[in-house]
Order: sequence, then C-alpha cells, then structure tokens
Amino acid sequence: MVTSGVTLRASNPGGIPCGPVPRHDRDALARAAGHETWQDAVRATADLAQQEAAKILGISHPTVRVWRKELGLDVATARPDAAQRRAEFAADPADPRHGTANGYRNLGCRCERCTQAWTDYSRTRTHPVIKEPTRRDQGS
Ligand SMILES: [Zn+2]
Repeated sequence: MVTSGVTLRASNPGGIPCGPVPRHDRDALARAAGHETWQDAVRATADLAQQEAAKILGISHPTVRVWRKELGLDVATARPDAAQRRAEFAADPADPRHGTANGYRNLGCRCERCTQAWTDYSRTRTHPVIKEPTRRDQGS
C-alpha cells in the first residue's frame, strides 16, 4: 500500500472553489447591499423583478432566482403571470371583457360569448383570418 503524503480529498483551503456560492460570501454580498444576511436581502427584494433585485444586490439574476428558490420565495411572491390572469378571467363570468374579441384572443377565453365575439370580429375583417405577421411581444 502506497502512503500518499497529501490527502487530496481533504479540505483544500487553496483550492479552486466549486459549486454554489458559500454562505459567508452570500452574506458579504448582502451586507455590501445594506442587508444583514443574504436571506434578508432576498426577502427585502422579493417583490422586485429578478433583474431589478439582481442590480440592487450586485449579483446576477439567475443567482437571485437560486436564492429565492432556496427560501421558497420564487413562486409565492411572483406576480400573477399570463396563465394565471387568464384562468382568473375565465373563472369570472361577470368580467366585462367576456364577449369581446380581446377576451377570446388575448385572454384565451373560449366561453360562448367570447367565441361568438371572436367569430363576429373575424367576419368583419376584410380578409379571412390568416396568419398574422409574427410580432413578438416585448417583456413577456
Ligand atoms: Zn369569455
């Protein structure tokens, strides 16, 4: 049996760091941004978009996502997304947007009134409904 003088797998202070940012580094980053701990920093910026929070905390926005996720904040504090807004709209028959082409096309409602409105709207168009030029919505 060969006895190695150095055990490579033991803690290697001078080694290249790998894996997630160590806790103390997170706290250092948070303190630099005026917070006590990284958890405080994440909670204090939880209402902001990831990019905004990242800018304030001086970290990358994927890091914001990771930190939020670790605190269980990523989903809970997210703003309602399009899918949720649509679901809420569809679930509320009293919403005045039912019975409009907007309700059908932009909000994805397929209730009778919206479908009818969309049908009427399509009929009034000069051309049959064909593929419209693709327009990427910004910020979605
Ligand atoms: Zn509808």
